[in-house]
Amino acid sequence: TTRIERHHYDVVVIGAGGAGLRAAIEARLAGKKTAIISKSLFGKAHTVMAEGGAAAAMGNVNSRDNWQVHFRDTMRGGKFLNNFRMAELHAKESPQRIWELETYGALFDRTKDGKISQRNFGGHEYPRLAHVGDRTGLELIRTLQQKIVSLQQEDQREFGSYDARIRVFSETTITELLLDGDRVAGAFGYYRESGEFVLFEAPAVVLATGGVGRSYKVTSNSWEYTGDGHALALRAGATLINMEFLQFHPTGMVWPPSVKGILVTESVRGDGGVLKNSDGKRFMFDYVPDVFRKQYAETEEEADRWYTDPDNNRRPPELLPRDEVARAINSEVKAGRGSPAGGVFLDIASRRSADEIRRRLPSMYHQFKELADVDITAEPMEVGPTCHYVMGGVEVDPDSGAAFGHVRGLFAAGEVSGGMHGSNRLGGNSLSDLLVFGKRAGGHAASYADGLAARPKVAVDAVEAAVETALAPLQRDTGESPYTLQQDLQVVMGDLVGIIRREGELADALRRLAELRERVAKVSAFGGRRYNPGWHLALDLRNMLVVSECTAKAALERQESRGGHTREDYPAMEPKWRQVNLVCSLDGDTVQLTRKPLPKMRPELIGLFDRAELGKYLTDEELADFDALVA
Ligand code: FAD
Repeated sequence: TTRIERHHYDVVVIGAGGAGLRAAIEARLAGKKTAIISKSLFGKAHTVMAEGGAAAAMGNVNSRDNWQVHFRDTMRGGKFLNNFRMAELHAKESPQRIWELETYGALFDRTKDGKISQRNFGGHEYPRLAHVGDRTGLELIRTLQQKIVSLQQEDQREFGSYDARIRVFSETTITELLLDGDRVAGAFGYYRESGEFVLFEAPAVVLATGGVGRSYKVTSNSWEYTGDGHALALRAGATLINMEFLQFHPTGMVWPPSVKGILVTESVRGDGGVLKNSDGKRFMFDYVPDVFRKQYAETEEEADRWYTDPDNNRRPPELLPRDEVARAINSEVKAGRGSPAGGVFLDIASRRSADEIRRRLPSMYHQFKELADVDITAEPMEVGPTCHYVMGGVEVDPDSGAAFGHVRGLFAAGEVSGGMHGSNRLGGNSLSDLLVFGKRAGGHAASYADGLAARPKVAVDAVEAAVETALAPLQRDTGESPYTLQQDLQVVMGDLVGIIRREGELADALRRLAELRERVAKVSAFGGRRYNPGWHLALDLRNMLVVSECTAKAALERQESRGGHTREDYPAMEPKWRQVNLVCSLDGDTVQLTRKPLPKMRPELIGLFDRAELGKYLTDEELADFDALVA
């Protein structure tokens, strides 16, 4: 028989990025015995890589900012497909979550009068991102971890053990959720180092596993982002929404090839950097879409004045939402006006002094110096789109983070959840999302556990099945290498389900994914269970595959272009499609796609927009309803 280490917790949080840590803190503060599990080393998550900052309408730099303005910007950024309630909670609660972080010991950059400083970012009407240079995520993770340590010290004093009520299991990968009927009963996984199995029995699980970027070759995401949480949720009976919407960040490094995809923070543009093509032209002025025309400058002079006088000038078009900028770069390169390495130029050198650049963008300065031998204080950078963020994710109740579908006791927060960002996320809105909805999910998971009359039980045969599935790749010696399969998957997704999509290619992608599914079912990994990355990847592949199928299916179904989903054959944004969420679920092994109406915005929220703007997004019937409402 296989040895399995067993643990009992009230709340198990899978993922130790910002969402997971904030959820775990909340569950522990509610007195629950809480485990935090992370596939990577503790402290190594995407959250730590976040550079630009966390968006929160504190109004420190421009006192006109408030939650209503932030809400409007978020809905515009997501092209009105966002779950309005999530966007509302996020806009209202972000400032409290940032201030709370300072009580945990965070220290953000300051304004001259000592308030938390806020920087400009694409799609945000006012300077709104709380930041620490371009290393904001590091400060976020550092303080959340520090808070956890302080809670462990309290427990040491009270119970004689640091781990009494909150314990971290790092380098531990969860491969299955275990159910008792339709209720979560626990999570099963392995220690990456030893390959030994571990079982967590718990009535409540919070998924905080982050994104899916490793299904693409050119991505800012690191190795662990294989959509595990998305797939775990699906297999447990939960649903995913908005999976067709992927954010291709406009500025990833394009050279040298070994670092292609690594992120170049939007702060470069927020701080004055401009995009130029091979003719030296600031091309973004040619790409301002009608829906944004009123808010963006028409001349370089006006755009440049905006940095010092934002009240009397309109924003530079380099600061359009990311989907717009990524498409524009794509078009310039396609038209033959790209840079030598196939991107465009991002120039901060001619715009700011060398001192300023080194002070405001220290990580970018070092990144280019060390990885590309480029001095960004003297030369332009070469940049191009990179797969960065998944808007789609677990369909959740906005207030509690509880997963929809046929499962109870499952919660999700952060990038793994869907709805909040609609079809496109604004930069900076993720870090605040993690704090707002991490706290909510952790709190609600705790009260769900409290409310249970009896604990769900883990079934023996479910554990046996999990062991069998996990060991299978090691026991086959005729299958293909997981690395070959991942490469093939990345080719399908990059070539056929990338930034610009077409019906024929998407249908082709689905055929190829079906073939890949058969090959992945027979994947084999060499070697034993001790630290074996090939085996780990073999197990990740089935997650990447099912999540990719959701994306391709939804992308084929949605016959319009909106946010992070661009159809060359349906280039317009269609009001009737704005009323629809595409929902993925699993029937056995098969991905099912259904249409579900989007929740209707409450009157006082829709009333925050003027009719002319709503006219760009709503159907005629919805506009008639709006007119009746205001009449
Ligand atoms: P993550 O921080 O990604 O953490 C996920 C955790 O889940 C990790 O601990 C991982 O090990 C664990 N995990 C995954 N699968 C498993 C499994 N099977 N078992 C156990 N554990 C698992 N957003 C902003 O708002 N502002 C920015 O300036 C910004 N800059 C960014 C820069 C970069 C380079 C990148 C990549 C992203 C940036 N983002 C930014 C986006 C933002 O950082 C992420 O969306 C956010 O950090 C996600 O947080 P999370 O808590 O949901 O997940």
